[in-house]
Amino acid sequence: MNLLIFGAPGSGKGTQAEFIKERLGIPQIATGDILRSEKRRQTELGVQAQKYMDAGKLVPDDLVIAMLQKRLAEPDCSAGFLLDGFPRTVVQAQVLDRMMLGLRKQFDRALYLYVPPEKLVERLSGRLTCPECGRTYHPKSKPPRNDSVCDFDGTELYQREDDTPETARTRIQVYLDDTLPVLDYYRSGNIVREIDGDRPIEEVKSAILEALNSPPAADAATSPHGGEEKVLL
Ligand code: AMP
Repeated sequence: MNLLIFGAPGSGKGTQAEFIKERLGIPQIATGDILRSEKRRQTELGVQAQKYMDAGKLVPDDLVIAMLQKRLAEPDCSAGFLLDGFPRTVVQAQVLDRMMLGLRKQFDRALYLYVPPEKLVERLSGRLTCPECGRTYHPKSKPPRNDSVCDFDGTELYQREDDTPETARTRIQVYLDDTLPVLDYYRSGNIVREIDGDRPIEEVKSAILEALNSPPAADAATSPHGGEEKVLL
């Protein structure tokens, strides 16, 4: 399966993407994780991307598109993949369409995790991330088993520079302004499945599995949350 996952920062997208990756045995391609790794290693791309990331803004399209194109050409993507954090602009979606055409692939589902915007800042503040594998934790909803180390690889967890309340607000607003319109781009293909992300992690996982198994729906082009997300934070 070739899948897309959409969700605002703090919607639980990364946690659910991890689950899907393990369940379906397909690679999770998280552009944010790739960029953070480039930034840590201070590569040319990492240095160019840093100022945008630290401010909660989007990295310019040409940089992320070139990065993704390289990643999709790797052999582990041939049997399917899950895109997490891309496309984030309509331009990225249009270029991705052309890439998919060239690879003779198409997307089977676009999962959209919906969490009311007013809950997102709270979810992001206090979030802890593993610098090694990108898994995220939260003291309330998903505490690590041992103090402040990653359950998976034992690496010390840290708070992302862009998880401060102020930068989190910018990121959420950028999502509402630039990325939500991308979802409309996929609605015409009847592949969008909207999932209530404002409930316990296990319930969201079940809803995702249901959405992955559901046949194409005639009413999938409509969204119960179409307009109301456009609130300014
Ligand atoms: P994320 O881990 O998905 O929240 O991404 C962290 C940051 O990386 C974002 O705030 C952006 O600065 C940058 N980023 C990740 N993916 C993209 C993308 N597709 N387009 C532009 N910037 C991106």
